[in-house]
Amino acid sequence: MSIQESTSGPTTAAQAADAEWDVAVVGGSLAGCAVAIHFSTMGHRVAVLERKTTGDDHYKQLCTHFVQPHTVALLGPLGLAHLREPGNSVATKAVFVTPGGAVDTPGPDYDPAQPGSTALNLERRVLDPAIRESARRHGATFLDGVGVEAVRQEADGWVLDVTGEGGPRQLRARLVVAADGRRSTLAGLLDNPAESRPNERVALFGYFTGIEAPALNRSIFVMNDRDLACSYPLVDGRTELVLFADKARVADWRGADGRMQEFLKYFDGIAEAPSVANAVPEGPLLGYSDYPSLLRRPVAGAVPFVGDAALSVDAMSGVGCGFALLSADLLARAFRGRELTGEGVREGLDDYRKRFESTILPHAEGICGDSLVEKDEATRKRMFDTICGNPELSQKYLALTGRMVMPAEFQRAFMRGLMARGAARK
Ligand SMILES: Cc1cc2nc3c(=O)[nH]c(=O)nc-3n(C[C@H](O)[C@H](O)[C@H](O)COP(=O)(O)OP(=O)(O)OC[C@H]3O[C@@H](n4cnc5c(N)ncnc54)[C@H](O)[C@@H]3O)c2cc1C
Repeated sequence: MSIQESTSGPTTAAQAADAEWDVAVVGGSLAGCAVAIHFSTMGHRVAVLERKTTGDDHYKQLCTHFVQPHTVALLGPLGLAHLREPGNSVATKAVFVTPGGAVDTPGPDYDPAQPGSTALNLERRVLDPAIRESARRHGATFLDGVGVEAVRQEADGWVLDVTGEGGPRQLRARLVVAADGRRSTLAGLLDNPAESRPNERVALFGYFTGIEAPALNRSIFVMNDRDLACSYPLVDGRTELVLFADKARVADWRGADGRMQEFLKYFDGIAEAPSVANAVPEGPLLGYSDYPSLLRRPVAGAVPFVGDAALSVDAMSGVGCGFALLSADLLARAFRGRELTGEGVREGLDDYRKRFESTILPHAEGICGDSLVEKDEATRKRMFDTICGNPELSQKYLALTGRMVMPAEFQRAFMRGLMARGAARK
């Protein structure tokens, strides 16, 4: 008997863990909840297994929550259209200050032909509880504090060994989805090792009051030497400042107070960043000192991997939340109209793999390249001179960073821009 059919009172983790499910989603963050919403909408009985005890206001703190414009259209089908409202997030567009000048296109939209094509500064304290609530509203059963320790494939599906409230138990499902983040337990269990690419920058970030938002609430990204200094206007007049810095830069920034002083001094020294003269920190700086990009196969052992479990790249690119929702969307498209039987699952997985490899994977190479600090400065300057001097190319560059176009499309436009520049010089 499934838990929904049970008449014996409220669902407990122990009851649900004994049940049989169509889909067991391992990991209850962005990717996992998005998968749960899509598969529940298709009429499947879905359990989300989340190792942490999340509670109503739990959220991921280690995230700078810049939601790229390609992602914004994915919110509606997840029942999250209200997160675009001004009380929940700030609609924004990136300005890049580069060695060749500013990439700053006119108007509020990434693409003038698509009104409303903005990014969102959508804090995880808002997004995470909202997506969990939506998963429940769509009929998924959320099993909090239940971690998956082992999985075993049988003729008609999977058996999962879980721990949590009530001790170790087993759960059965026809499809298992790995949405368990960059340190994926399922990747370890299913022999899906990560290809690791170096990231030569640290990240430091904090929340502040007393910083004036730029015109049109733009988010400003300043390429300063080998670093990227970012400012994001947030709701209630707050601002998030983020620094992705060459590791050597911050080596002597010691102690919480000393680090905050150096951090603000750093932003104070950047003319193009909003003034931090009156900035008041809301709390200590957060961040990481080492965060290599990790790439895995999107399907392993007949299990699809979504979100960070499949691809967790340098946070400087600001793509992880978007790719978590996008990979869930691709998985749902691959399984729409298919039975969760042997053949249906096989075809769905193959379809998902192809969609992932053609839609998400092509972005990884450029992002991993940008994680390296040493670059040929003359070539870099030439590239940005070309981009900044050409309005069409500026817009394409912005669209690439917002993942609205594929890297190959930008490359073609860039080559056209280079040739036009060469011809104009003759
Ligand atoms: C400093 C920093 C800044 C970032 N900034 C941005 C940004 O500006 N924009 C952006 O788009 N992205 C950003 N990201 C990336 C973004 O946070 C992630 O890509 C995103 O959270 C991935 O979501 P996910 O659901 O795939 O994985 P996660 O959020 O990692 O969730 C995985 C879940 O699985 C659970 N889990 C793990 N193992 C098990 C198990 N065995 N059983 C059950 N549950 C399990 C975990 O508890 C967790 O809740 C940033 C990341 C960092 C570190």
